Amino acid sequence: GNIAKDHLTRYTVWESSGSSGEPAVFVQDARAMHVYDALEALRRPVLRPLQRWLDPWGLTDRMAFVGATGGHFASTVSVERLRQLQPGLSHRLRGMSFLQPMEALRAELEAFQPTVLATYPSAAVMLAEEHRAGRLRVDLREIWTGGETLSPAQRTFVRESFACPVSQSYGASEFLSLAFECRLGALHLNSDWAILEPVDAQGRAVPDGQAGCTTLLTNLANHVQPLIRYDLGDRVTFLPTPCTCGSHLPVITVSGRDDDTLQLAGGRGRACVQVVPLAVSTVLEDAGLFDFQLVQQGPRELLLTTSMQGSRGQHVLDAAREKLQAFFGELGARD
Ligand SMILES: [Zn+2]
Repeated sequence: GNIAKDHLTRYTVWESSGSSGEPAVFVQDARAMHVYDALEALRRPVLRPLQRWLDPWGLTDRMAFVGATGGHFASTVSVERLRQLQPGLSHRLRGMSFLQPMEALRAELEAFQPTVLATYPSAAVMLAEEHRAGRLRVDLREIWTGGETLSPAQRTFVRESFACPVSQSYGASEFLSLAFECRLGALHLNSDWAILEPVDAQGRAVPDGQAGCTTLLTNLANHVQPLIRYDLGDRVTFLPTPCTCGSHLPVITVSGRDDDTLQLAGGRGRACVQVVPLAVSTVLEDAGLFDFQLVQQGPRELLLTTSMQGSRGQHVLDAAREKLQAFFGELGARD
């Protein structure tokens, strides 16, 4: 109930699992939020230029965000904050949980009939498969993805399934709007507000054109909780040549999260239950397990490991396994 409510009357707060397995809380003041809002408003690509001209405020659009809606995550806080700032828009903007069974999510989407879908690439692919199979009747006009790496094959599949443009953006809990695509599909870093430094395993800068082992972020917008050369965990490459679109903002490519979607044996007449990676990590983190590896070994076999030691590690691992089992059961997976 407190999602997106101001903390101490003036701070916007969200949490993240953190790139290193250590959960983190991020605190922003109005100044930092204004910078994020401005970047979002001015630099997000216009996928339907004619539509923008006819309807500059997007008053005919209905936007659905599909993700982890039950916690203080940056994406969910952003959606709820927008609803609170613009009560008139709130009935056309809705967050939907990807932790619910597919039938329930399909029903919620069909009842709402969004024109714009914002979600993770893995969830967009799963919904595209439902749409192709004739099980999801929605008429999307734009799809925005972020939070994971969108591969060219995923983009083509989603775009062709829904017959609408797909854009990707790059952001993090540590800086919401790091990069947006231009009309040529290149990802431009908002280098006037965020410094990214790709570094090798020893923390040394790598030259343009090469991917580092990780990337250091310095956030120039948030002065309340300074993040200076913060290890993001993503592999970023700066392209050595400027983009022909005319933007002076540097072009980057990003290898971020790209875990596989689980394909579990279903029961009750279902062939297969798919579970997107961020749904799995949301459930495990909710059980207190932040440092884990989950490997699918068969349609009914999963191996969950952690580097946590001792009885505390065993206790957390047992609790996480139970939660995960219950979650898969709710989705319709069996045995
Ligand atoms: Zn460009």
